Amino acid sequence: MSSPPRKRVAVFCGSKSGAKTVYSDHVATLGNLLGENNIDIVYGGSYKGLMGVLANHALIKGSKVTGIIPEVLINREHQHEGLTELIITSDMHQRKKTMYEMGDAGIVLPGGFGTLDEFFEMLTWNQLSIHNKKIFILNSGGFYSRLIEHLEFLEKEEFLHDQVWNRLEQHDNPVSLVNSLCKSFGN
Ligand code: AMP
Repeated sequence: MSSPPRKRVAVFCGSKSGAKTVYSDHVATLGNLLGENNIDIVYGGSYKGLMGVLANHALIKGSKVTGIIPEVLINREHQHEGLTELIITSDMHQRKKTMYEMGDAGIVLPGGFGTLDEFFEMLTWNQLSIHNKKIFILNSGGFYSRLIEHLEFLEKEEFLHDQVWNRLEQHDNPVSLVNSLCKSFGN
C-alpha cells in the first residue's frame, strides 16, 4: 500500500532570535516535531534568527525544507545553503503568495514586521475565501498575548466577518500545536 502524500506547512518567523531563549527553544522543538511527523516546510529561506533554527532542526529530523527568497534579498538575507530546495521569486508579494500556496496550513512563530505582514496576508486571504488553510499561532512565553487580545477585540467591536477562532488556533507550546496540526491533516 502506498503511503499518504506528505503534508507541508508554511512557517512565518523572525529573521532575528528575539530577547528570550524560550523563542529559540520552542522553534527548535517545533522543527524537530515537524520532522519526526514527516511534515515538510516552506519558509523564507534565511539561515538567520528563528528562521535558521527552524530549518536546521527540521532538516536533521528529515523534513524537506523549501526556502522562498525574493531576488532583492539574495545575499542580504543570508539564504540557507543546506535546504532541500531554494526558490527565487521576482518580488516580496510573489514570495508570500508562493509560501502559502505551497503550504497546507500556516504556523506563526515569534517575529517582527515581516512575520506580522505574512501572518495578516495569509489570514486576510483566508477570510476572503481565496484559500481555506488554517493558521496556528505559537504563543511562546506569551509573545502573542497582546495581539491575540486585539484580534478578539476586533471581533467584539464587530469588525470581523465571523468568529476570529474559526480560521486560527493558538497554542502555548509546540507539542500541543503539532498534535493539533497532525489531527487537522488526518495523521
Ligand atoms: P521579520 O519578522 O521582520 O524578521 O521578517 C521575517 C521574514 O519576513 C524575513 O525573511 C523578511 O525578509 C520577510 N519579510 C519582511 N517583509 C516582508 C514582506 N513585505 N513580504 C514578504 N516577506 C517579508
